[in-house]
Amino acid sequence: MLPDALLTDCHAHLADGRLADCLPQVLQRCAGMGGVVVNAAQMADWETIGKMMEDVPTLQGAVGIHPWYAAEETLKYLQVIDNQILAKSEKWVAIGEIGLDFVVETPSRKLQMEVMAAQVRLAVRHSLPVCLHIRKAWSTFFDLFKTLGLASLKGYCHNFTGSRETARRLLDAGLHLSFGGQLTWPEARRAREAAVYVPADSILVETDCPDLPSFSHKVEPSLPWHVAETLECMAELRHMKAETLAQQVLQNFQGLFG
Ligand SMILES: [Zn+2]
Repeated sequence: MLPDALLTDCHAHLADGRLADCLPQVLQRCAGMGGVVVNAAQMADWETIGKMMEDVPTLQGAVGIHPWYAAEETLKYLQVIDNQILAKSEKWVAIGEIGLDFVVETPSRKLQMEVMAAQVRLAVRHSLPVCLHIRKAWSTFFDLFKTLGLASLKGYCHNFTGSRETARRLLDAGLHLSFGGQLTWPEARRAREAAVYVPADSILVETDCPDLPSFSHKVEPSLPWHVAETLECMAELRHMKAETLAQQVLQNFQGLFG
């Protein structure tokens, strides 16, 4: 069993209302973990996350608008991040969750692209990493990357389950790949291939809690310390000790989020 102090979750939605009943216990256990980055999905999360970070030293925050919540007025909200939120606390260590989700039909692709581009520019301006959510939109993502004139980008792709070729392109762009509970599902063939392929210093782990549970918790909400199962699964795939991998991932986490 991996000790909690070695566990890091780079992508947790602790402001999600589905966790409200168990939140005090969840936060208590997170306080003993190596680190947790709490991702915002929508503007309403920002204040909640800000308070949580004040109370729990191991929590850090990612502020942003998830592609599902992209709206015309979002661009105005982003000025609030720029002018107020980031200045308030050094515990805001990333811009997230941002990205492109072409599985959903609304918001439109055009709007998602505009909102994502604005948030990437914001991250670059503040030298902050991004937490990326990309579904069925890889080629548009790489096009946007070029349009923005980026040589590289700091951050990670959340819940990476793409091909080795996509993994290579993301790694070449300077991004980390984050693996979640889905890796522990026996049918996760492609994610498992990528988990073996990715260099050790580019790996992160996450839960996307309360979503994307691991195989053994499939009927429950996922919780930040469930990353232990992902680490154990990945260590087995990579023929190494889970503790060694957890150490390396902790170092990667600290390198990216400070
Ligand atoms: Zn998420």
